[in-house]
Amino acid sequence: MKCPFCSYPEDRVVDSRSSQDGSAIRRRRECLKCARRFTTYERLEVVAQLVVKKDGSREPFDRGKVLSGMARACRKRPVSSQQMEAEVERIEQSLQESGEAEVASARIGEKVMEALSRLDPVAYVRFASVYREFKDVNAFMDEIKSLLRLAPPAPADNGEAPPEAARTDAAEGA
Ligand SMILES: [Zn+2]
Repeated sequence: MKCPFCSYPEDRVVDSRSSQDGSAIRRRRECLKCARRFTTYERLEVVAQLVVKKDGSREPFDRGKVLSGMARACRKRPVSSQQMEAEVERIEQSLQESGEAEVASARIGEKVMEALSRLDPVAYVRFASVYREFKDVNAFMDEIKSLLRLAPPAPADNGEAPPEAARTDAAEGA
């Protein structure tokens, strides 16, 4: 650290302690040339990624928003909040690892769709239909068709109670 008085580049640390709230380390230094003392603070650099929205405005990345968007799509679907949180975590991490200061909101949307396509086909279609703002029914049907080609057949769930026989068996087994 250059001495603020004589610009000499070397000093020795005479005292080092955390700031009161622990968010910084305060170092008292002494210039090796002029022997005057000065203080430096070391802080964690917080890299806040900005999301560039469709209208060009920017706002800090908000994992809560991503999570609530995902939760809306997964409403009443067999997706746990842990699964959603894990996906949001993964998305946030991949964005941070990109090291970019700004991320287009569209890219986040794509990542959410990708995650939902793995979690639940219905949630995926819900999110995609809102997100992609399908202009017409055909575009929507194309999306669903490509989804059906990708997704393995899901077991039928018609919401009805299991047949009488199955229930009796289960009761006797218990
Ligand atoms: Zn000095």
